[in-house]
Amino acid sequence: MTTIATYKASPEEESKEIKKQYRKLLRSFQREPSSEEKKKLKKAFLVAVDAHKEDRRKSGEPYIFHPLAVAQIVAEEMSLDPISVVAALLHDTVEDTYITLDDIENLFGEKERYLIDGLTKISSTNLQTESRQAENFRKMLLTLSDDVRVILVKLADRLHNMRTLSAMRPDKQLQIASETLYMYAPLAYRLGLSKIKNEMEDLALKYREANAYKAIEQKIKDTEIERTKLIQIFTKPIIDELKKQGLKFQVKTRVKSIYSIWNKMQKQSIPFEQVYDLFAIRVILDSKLEREKADCWHAYSIVTDFWRPNTERLRDWISNPKANGYESLHITVMGPKGKWIEVQIRTERMDDISEKGYAAHWKYKSNKETESGLDTWIAQVREMLESPDADAINFIDDFKSNLFTEEIFVFTPKGDLKKLPSGATALDFAFEIHSQVGVKCVGAKVDNKLVPISHVLKSGDQVDILTSNNQKPNKNWLSFVISGKAKAKIKSSLKEEKKEISFDGKEILRRKFKGLKVDFESRNITPLEKHFNVDSATELYYQIAIGKIDLKKLNGYTVDNKTITFDKTRIEPPASKKKKSFSKKEKIEGIVLDDKGANLNYKLAKCCNPIEGDQVFGFLTISEGIKIHRTNCPNASQLMSHYGYRVIKAAWSGEEDKEFLAKIIFTGIDDLGLVHKITSALSQGHDINMKSISFESKDGIFSGEIKLFVQNTQHLQSLIESLKELEGIMTVDRIIER
Ligand code: MN
Repeated sequence: MTTIATYKASPEEESKEIKKQYRKLLRSFQREPSSEEKKKLKKAFLVAVDAHKEDRRKSGEPYIFHPLAVAQIVAEEMSLDPISVVAALLHDTVEDTYITLDDIENLFGEKERYLIDGLTKISSTNLQTESRQAENFRKMLLTLSDDVRVILVKLADRLHNMRTLSAMRPDKQLQIASETLYMYAPLAYRLGLSKIKNEMEDLALKYREANAYKAIEQKIKDTEIERTKLIQIFTKPIIDELKKQGLKFQVKTRVKSIYSIWNKMQKQSIPFEQVYDLFAIRVILDSKLEREKADCWHAYSIVTDFWRPNTERLRDWISNPKANGYESLHITVMGPKGKWIEVQIRTERMDDISEKGYAAHWKYKSNKETESGLDTWIAQVREMLESPDADAINFIDDFKSNLFTEEIFVFTPKGDLKKLPSGATALDFAFEIHSQVGVKCVGAKVDNKLVPISHVLKSGDQVDILTSNNQKPNKNWLSFVISGKAKAKIKSSLKEEKKEISFDGKEILRRKFKGLKVDFESRNITPLEKHFNVDSATELYYQIAIGKIDLKKLNGYTVDNKTITFDKTRIEPPASKKKKSFSKKEKIEGIVLDDKGANLNYKLAKCCNPIEGDQVFGFLTISEGIKIHRTNCPNASQLMSHYGYRVIKAAWSGEEDKEFLAKIIFTGIDDLGLVHKITSALSQGHDINMKSISFESKDGIFSGEIKLFVQNTQHLQSLIESLKELEGIMTVDRIIER
């Protein structure tokens, strides 16, 4: 960032730079702002400069550079309108300075007040940290149905914070990066801002796993010359023929983002070299709206004349755009040297929408009368927001499940098309049709075959839902539905049912109290809640009604003057109920991982098996003390973004006298002696304790995995290096178990 470099500047230089940035901003609009808009922009700039005049960022630069940079992103990278830029300039004023919402309304107007309000965090201090974060997300999402611009400015704010994350403390960096990965990047994706989503993910990875990030970055560089040659051979005949046939076009190459390469390596346990779709070729056509589809298929036919397509990898997002508005024709073809190459064919309009998302989408909307997937999605979110489930954390989880990257298309019996997240079941489909169909669903017919409600659907299925009036939702349903809508409806209906059942429990307790001559009043009910360690009267009644609490066995109490009192010795609450006892006071400043036990007790998490030398953090669990996770653990982003206050800094002391379990995978050319070579290489001079080893061989290529105990990352690295030197070995990689 150019702005960071200026922080040691003199006040005069600083104010010169501020004005320069502002002038740059004014030049960045897609259309020239009106004179009215220009006046507002100027006012917003001056108000923000004055409000933040005393503030500096962690990097030392004047604070105003931040809102200016956010405004720049909003104008240039999102192509939003002047009012969004006004909001971006002012977005931190109400939260951090003397400016109030009333000031905003007086100075600018009602619309501006609404936008800034949406951008101001909830400040209430009586909320727990975890739910405050969730409440803020919820508040932000609530604005979605009214004005999506609040979220877009928020995304720009987050993007700039990610770009300048290096100035933060390492533990803060991790938390912010995790939150970004968990919530903001999927949101950006869902709103069609693929470029911003990629940048957010890459930056998050850079802080969460610096080494992996650098390694992939380097490998992309190292393979560049080879790649360019391959692309030239591949595109030459296509370009010539496209020209010959009179199409107007440009051809671009897109290398996958570092994060998505990393993600693929993790998910499929493969090394960098085996990521086959490292880059894609993009053919972008300059095409008239009514010719778009025909031109794209024309280009498709030219591409596949030269290179053989794998029709299983044909994706027609033109006939069926993705829910985020994405349109394109994808095909994977066999390129030179036996390499699969993905080609994306689209028009300039489609390309614009795929990179800039929402704003570009609206720009073209007037031209095209079809209802877009994005509108449908916004309508769905609105519906979910109206569901009565008030628990913000649940809401975020449900909402997140709606941000799925992959979708399937299924048909109703009448042939209507429905979009569902990939992995959706017959029951999800039932709720998609109507919540009343969902709650009464007993089964389904998929292409005329009877299937259970948990049946996972695939694209192209025609689904007929069977219902019964005797059916009602049960808890088990939550284990297989995946759409946010179904989850929210099932939860609210279970809650409703629980409430009804609890009425019976209330009656039972009323009778019991009558028998004991105890008043049925809260002064007597509350001690009972405490005694049984439940968190509400409804829960108490419910457990009585279903027999989980047996009042016949009630003991350890005395009744005096119509009042019940329990003995001091309470039933020890079950571990899972202790959750609430965590408070900020218990936060520990950080732990040093050594073997002396003098510091704190901790255990290594089984989900990611950290070894000495890995980047790690501690997490305060409810019943098992502190668990140490790797920062790239598959569970890390959820833990950090939900329970940030339970995350503890952790570092290795370097004096660990312990062995760690690690898993490595390798591939090579099949050779009789290789297994022996590997095992003897490991046993010679490495002092290794092996846990398991397995090999598999297919068509002359073998692959295998070894679980072994090592002392630290260095130890593991030297092992990997010595395995790589063996003849016949092609790849050796450490992987995280999932
Ligand atoms: Mn900000």
